[in-house]
Amino acid sequence: MGLIHEDRLFPADPTTRAIARRLYETVKDLPIVSPHGHTDPRWFAENEPFPDPARLFVIPDHYVTRMLYSQGVRLEELGIATRDGSPTEADPRRIWRRFAENYHLFRGTPSRMWLDHSFSTLFGLETRLGAETADLYYDTIADHLARDDYRPRALFERFRIEVIATTESPLDPLTWHGQIRASGWSGRVITAYRPDPVCDPDFAGFHDNVRQLGALTGCDTGTWSGYLEAHRRRRAFFKSFGATSTDHGHPTARTADLSRADAEALHARVMAGAVSAQDAELYRAQCLTEMAGMSLEDGLVMQIHPGSWRNHNPLLFDRFGRDMGADIPSRTDYVGALKPLLDRYGNEPALTVIVFTLDETTYSRELAPLAGHYPALRIGPAWWFFDSPEGMKRYREMVTETAGFYNTVGFNDDTRAFTSIPARHDVSRRVDCGYLAGLVASHRLDEDEAFVVARDLAYDLARKAYKLD
Ligand SMILES: [Zn+2]
Repeated sequence: MGLIHEDRLFPADPTTRAIARRLYETVKDLPIVSPHGHTDPRWFAENEPFPDPARLFVIPDHYVTRMLYSQGVRLEELGIATRDGSPTEADPRRIWRRFAENYHLFRGTPSRMWLDHSFSTLFGLETRLGAETADLYYDTIADHLARDDYRPRALFERFRIEVIATTESPLDPLTWHGQIRASGWSGRVITAYRPDPVCDPDFAGFHDNVRQLGALTGCDTGTWSGYLEAHRRRRAFFKSFGATSTDHGHPTARTADLSRADAEALHARVMAGAVSAQDAELYRAQCLTEMAGMSLEDGLVMQIHPGSWRNHNPLLFDRFGRDMGADIPSRTDYVGALKPLLDRYGNEPALTVIVFTLDETTYSRELAPLAGHYPALRIGPAWWFFDSPEGMKRYREMVTETAGFYNTVGFNDDTRAFTSIPARHDVSRRVDCGYLAGLVASHRLDEDEAFVVARDLAYDLARKAYKLD
């Protein structure tokens, strides 16, 4: 009995399970298309070994650290760097032991599935992680990480990644991407344009960021037209590094379509100094509609990732900064919020706007009806807290009957945890095959069609939606 079962996540009843197995057999080895995620391009540029088990599996994974934190483990004990440079645990083996002795906390969670998948398939570990096996795990993983065939590029190839997108700020010089391209390595690593640092007046350093955007592009970002032109130039720069998409992580999905004069006046107010909450929201809203217009010009696919209340825990933010597992979903409106953007661009079949949600109630009430109508709209896959077997099942159940399969866009792993990528895609393929098997078993879909859809969901839809051909 190993860590992962060959029938994991398939339906329990034998008829449906047999269909799911047949479908899965045809998609399990398809290449991985990862059109949205947060891996570090530096890994692939420098191709240095991953340093140690704690720095690979614990310290950078906020899914892991948030659970441990929720049970009283301090982030200092996990070696998370502090903003003021005050010391934290530096011994990776002690960090690993702390993680191992708390591994039971992950029972029933997707993190547990992803981790076990990596431990088993990458490192050949078959006894469960816990206090007694902590050192066995540490030594086995550390030994493997020292080998050349466990460096980032070798793992990229072993994972059969056809293409992976990272996410960068408009201010990023894309040095690592340049180095990857210059190296002659065949792995396809592309960037994505994430302009939140210059579109969101509440983003740390916003005013400086906008000025820096001007300096980078030679545009006068003190004016609205100069600011928009600077975006156009940076988008073109990102496209030259393979970008096919943009990504927008606003607190809400609100869009606006102001007159030119009103937008100019708003930009002037926002750049003048202290920004009111209303102006900040309106500015983000106008920015989304401008980005949609630019997408229609330059072809970049637009992703909207709203509804996360970032840095909900001020104590943690002050001490450790962003992305510490304290981002919490909030109620999200789409029908009203997207209307200005849709009024302007919703009927454009040449535009692709992919909308994500952390508010599952919106799938059947808002997103499936919208995406099942507007040619410009697609629904992103189950995201973040719902990137889980049950989340994926609910997603298909709530979306398919109104939007079909072809207004969805395949799977996003959306991760910075590199070794979890094959595990996450495998979970998605298994769950989708299980869902399709249910449709076949209840005579709602012919089995020959299910084979086609299984492949579309695992591979072709992501390539098509994100223009990765
Ligand atoms: Zn993301």
